[in-house]
Amino acid sequence: MTLESLTSRYEKLNIQLSEQYYNQYAGLTYDRDEMKILSQKLVEISKEFLEKYTEPRNMYLASIWTITDAKRLDIDLDFHDQRMEKISTDKYEINGKKVNWGSWRQFNSQTDDRQRRKEVFDEFISKAPSIAHLVEKRMGIAKEVYKRYNLTPLESYLELEQFSYEDLIDLLRKLGDGAKETFLNAAEHFASQVLLKTKPEYYDDFYTWRGRIFKPLNKYFEGKSPLHGIIQVLTKMKFNPSAIKVDDEDRPNKSPSASCWGIQIPNDVRILYRKVSPFTDFTSLFHEFGHGIHGKSANPEDSVWKRYIIPRSVSETFSILIQNIVEDPLFLSQDLKLDDTAVKEVVDRVRFMNLAFLVFYAANSIMKMEFWKNNYTVEEAAERWQELTKSFFIETPGDYWILHHVMPNFDMYSPSYVIATVRVVTIKEKLAQNYGDTWWHNPEAGKFIKQLAQTRGEFDIKDWKLDPDGYLSEQKALSFLK
Ligand SMILES: [Zn+2]
Repeated sequence: MTLESLTSRYEKLNIQLSEQYYNQYAGLTYDRDEMKILSQKLVEISKEFLEKYTEPRNMYLASIWTITDAKRLDIDLDFHDQRMEKISTDKYEINGKKVNWGSWRQFNSQTDDRQRRKEVFDEFISKAPSIAHLVEKRMGIAKEVYKRYNLTPLESYLELEQFSYEDLIDLLRKLGDGAKETFLNAAEHFASQVLLKTKPEYYDDFYTWRGRIFKPLNKYFEGKSPLHGIIQVLTKMKFNPSAIKVDDEDRPNKSPSASCWGIQIPNDVRILYRKVSPFTDFTSLFHEFGHGIHGKSANPEDSVWKRYIIPRSVSETFSILIQNIVEDPLFLSQDLKLDDTAVKEVVDRVRFMNLAFLVFYAANSIMKMEFWKNNYTVEEAAERWQELTKSFFIETPGDYWILHHVMPNFDMYSPSYVIATVRVVTIKEKLAQNYGDTWWHNPEAGKFIKQLAQTRGEFDIKDWKLDPDGYLSEQKALSFLK
């Protein structure tokens, strides 16, 4: 097969497989056997590509990743099921069912009794080793497949993201170290109100904070439609957001976290979301619509690899950029008509969570990079992660990493959010300079974002110099610490 016909077959199979995954996340019926058949066909295409071609390089790297993922499809489905089953407790229930890995965050958000939260945390950590062998297996498969092509998942990741190992470690350390002290001070400030205790401890994880700290903001957002809000913003910037299909139906098996699906880029882009709470519905819908316009802006004439194979940090750049609009003091006051007290409360809490994110993801990302570089076992990784939590925030039992939804589920990925967050600062500066502080009111800004989005797999990463210090000083400006 020619390159053209190979990649167009790759696209067709990908469309069918994405649709199955989409149905799974949407809580609709999906066909596991069909998924296996499709991913097997994708492996054949990928192998043929790797035998015949070394270019385009991103297609080459994506082919290795496709083979890896197909090889561990069964293990991943087992991991998904066993985690729900084994990481559970008989002591507490939520909506008439015992608390398990899937309802853990909901439990922490609803449970004011800190002793109960601690009990569940400790029990889940003690059960984490029961699923560790599956993590060991899936990482082992990646190691073995990449090795055939003289690569590691880390090397492939760094190549796509155009980062050297040292530069990425430096960036992560700088952000984690820089955020640490302010995070700890602010955590103590918020602890009594948010956690109902005097000091934050190891079991008050990032998601416990996130599930509880935004509750007081709901009063400002109740009665406002986030969907209407984002459509208005994007329409003003001359995007066509109604071309993105939104599924907001509530189904029992639908994933609680919102997601965006580029089933066929740019013609079939969909968003899944489920109402959670008034404030977080705003931020998550703005985020997913950022992914949505990124997909919709692709040129249908472009090659498969340019349209589909995007460094993760580039995908997150567009979602975080659009999400940042809803967290901007000027948007809150001018567009949402919130008063000064409300704006200050929103901004403080959003910034605090950004600091929490930096310290948590510094530990997560550095561990994952060292995982591949130093060939850690799952236990060694746990030991190392525990050390890193101690140096960046609060020492946390190392086995927690097995229970995270990103660290054990992806080969890399953790640093992409961090890179994107810092890149967005530079892009926003340019937008403000050229189109004004409320650039989202300006159709020209929309045109600029669209052109940037259209570059897809050829996005010029080096064009946007990262300014971690600028980002840190903005996030550290909390009104109550002055
Ligand atoms: Zn995203």
